[in-house]
Amino acid sequence: MHLRESTLMAVYAVTGSASGMGAAVVERLLAAGDRVVTVDVAGADVVADLSTPQGRRDATEKVLAACGGRLDGAVLAAGLGPAPGRDRPALITQVNYLGVVELLEGWREALAATGNAKVVVFSSNSTTTMPLIPARAVAALLEGDAERALKAYRIFGKQAPAMAYGASKVAVTRWVRRRAVEPEWVQAGIRLNAIAPGAVLTPLLEKQLATPGEAKAIRSFPVPAGGYGDPGLVADWVIHMLGPAADFMVGSVVVVDGGTDAWFRADDWPRPVPGRRLRGYLRRMREFRKVRA
Ligand code: NAD
Repeated sequence: MHLRESTLMAVYAVTGSASGMGAAVVERLLAAGDRVVTVDVAGADVVADLSTPQGRRDATEKVLAACGGRLDGAVLAAGLGPAPGRDRPALITQVNYLGVVELLEGWREALAATGNAKVVVFSSNSTTTMPLIPARAVAALLEGDAERALKAYRIFGKQAPAMAYGASKVAVTRWVRRRAVEPEWVQAGIRLNAIAPGAVLTPLLEKQLATPGEAKAIRSFPVPAGGYGDPGLVADWVIHMLGPAADFMVGSVVVVDGGTDAWFRADDWPRPVPGRRLRGYLRRMREFRKVRA
């Protein structure tokens, strides 16, 4: 039981707390004297299965009860990797996408209650380094139509779980960036950001390495720094993103991947606004003036 009794300590909710990077974050928060309400399928303060609507409702409500309606921050690390299986795309969609957005929507008021909350969502460098992620699945998820997203994966056959994984992470990252600048989040002092790790040696990656087809793909993937990332090292970045260093950090995606994204995409971004986007850019400028007025 990680829950501690004190109103003076900062209180954080961490999903996916029982293993890998989520566990490494919890270890650091507890070592710093913070309170943590942990969420996972087992071995957590709040035991909930985020792959079901009821599990997500339970997780939302039980965390709110445990933190007394006030959260200094949240880390959404629960996630499923692209293992084989017919039901895998659906499970990935539920845990990696809905298991983030439904919980955060349910916790928004508790995050706003502290006036200075920080949220870190686990994305992945799959978002920029995995080819052919179906854009229509991403659009469907952001429109709240998970069933339509699932249909889009069918044509990929055995690659459907990988596509569902990539799409869940692109969608959740865009969700973070869209909400991060909305008045009800940013003006309530909530800082929403994402971290995008590359291959990090956790039980999730170990499971993939134990599957011959997946192991081959992972081992042949370019990592300029070499080897795999350490979960503790990624957790250290998350801890910075939960602290005052993130006061001016809004909708950012921190890539920690040993250089894979830079290897493939060095010239793709930063990219200046192209002339054909100028009209939309000026529209956003006007919208901002209205929001601030
Ligand atoms: P991990 O498997 O070690 O930990 C994930 C945790 O999520 C586990 O404790 C698991 O029980 C929990 N979880 C899974 N399904 C759940 C469910 N239905 N309900 C509640 N909890 C559930 O994985 P990790 O590598 O530490 O991954 C953490 C996050 O980082 C994930 O979102 C993952 O997609 C992302 N990520 C991992 C890597 C990597 O190489 N390890 C790379 C990029 C992104």
